[in-house]
Amino acid sequence: MAKRSLSSLSSEDLSGKRVLVRVDFNVPVNEQSLITDDTRIRAALPTINDLVSKGAKVILSAHFGRPKGKVNESMRLTPVSERLSQLLGKKVLKTDSCIGDDAQSTVQSMANGDVVLLENVRFFSEEESNDPRFAKKLSSLADVYVNDAFGAAHRSHASTEGVTKYLSPSVAGYLMQKELQYLQGAIDAPKRPLAAIVGGSKVSSKIGVLESLLDKCDKILIGGGMIFTFYKARGLSVGKSLVEEDKLELANELETKAAEKGVQLLLPSDVVLADDFSPNSNSKIVDINSINEGWMGLDIGPNSVNDFQKALSDCQTVIWNGPMGVFEFEKFANGTNAIATTLAALSKKGCCTIIGGGDSVAAVEKAGLADEMSHISTGGGASLELLEGKVLPGVAALDEE
Ligand code: AMP
Repeated sequence: MAKRSLSSLSSEDLSGKRVLVRVDFNVPVNEQSLITDDTRIRAALPTINDLVSKGAKVILSAHFGRPKGKVNESMRLTPVSERLSQLLGKKVLKTDSCIGDDAQSTVQSMANGDVVLLENVRFFSEEESNDPRFAKKLSSLADVYVNDAFGAAHRSHASTEGVTKYLSPSVAGYLMQKELQYLQGAIDAPKRPLAAIVGGSKVSSKIGVLESLLDKCDKILIGGGMIFTFYKARGLSVGKSLVEEDKLELANELETKAAEKGVQLLLPSDVVLADDFSPNSNSKIVDINSINEGWMGLDIGPNSVNDFQKALSDCQTVIWNGPMGVFEFEKFANGTNAIATTLAALSKKGCCTIIGGGDSVAAVEKAGLADEMSHISTGGGASLELLEGKVLPGVAALDEE
């Protein structure tokens, strides 16, 4: 069932109201605590600006890093509040703690349209244990709840799930709404043919998603390190390539299931081999039936790229999760880059292209193609769980439409 969105709340509903907004500001920073990518902060701007324009008092809650329930000076949200101030063009106050006297008095002094950022909510262990008393304290700062933190929606934490028990209405922000519209939309009611491209290192971390996608997709294209488990299961030699011996049977089962369900499961026909796991290793392209002893496969080959392009050419929806090879090494990034370019071209033809978080997002950004895709998810773990068909607690807790 669809979740109620912020768009259903008017200025009359929100003017003068204290609105607790859970955002995902877990941005990457360098050693000098400088933010190296502010995508996640920018992604929350439509929600924040809408609330400001409707006269709400905007109280932002976020986590940053893994402080494990203790105050950690290097994980304060100060750089984030400064960046947000710049992006909003207005002062954003930051509290020293997300609950207690400082937070209460700062919120009490807010005027309509003001924005306050509460300090890292994970400085309290009660956040991750979803302690009801902590959730109550946090929610006592506000009247209304908006969850815009898709990247944290797969966690049942106090600020993502607990507070909804004390705040009403509890609605989805615009980023959350967009993520659900694309990701949920792609698996519930996609324009077909629907293809999923699944890559990354291991079968074990993608079992759930592969099994769930078998029920939804018309085609599944597999790349990355996991292909060698499938090859070994078929009886092929894979040299020193990554193999999960305890997943051989599962790989066979997945191939059988795909055949039974009439899903085209496509594995690469050639691979790029390396004689060492290093950016400067010797490399060669071989057919998958000719993988040499002592060598390891680190990318899909050019024939596979052609096969994948052909398979994708008539697709109306494509979901991509996981790189095709060790894209961190220039020499083994061709397969991943070719898929990124292919999806960019498909988007231009009207295909809905969805990049499901994590390394595939990094690869698309590195290739400078982020703007060409229909949707780039801000949540790696959350998007994977959604594709696995799991219920996200942070979404389930919101009001129905
Ligand atoms: P994941 O987090 O499971 O999506 O895996 C991403 C990682 O898989 C990246 O760091 C890639 O370098 C790695 N990867 C992709 N292809 C291979 C391969 N053929 N062998 C080893 N690692 C790979």
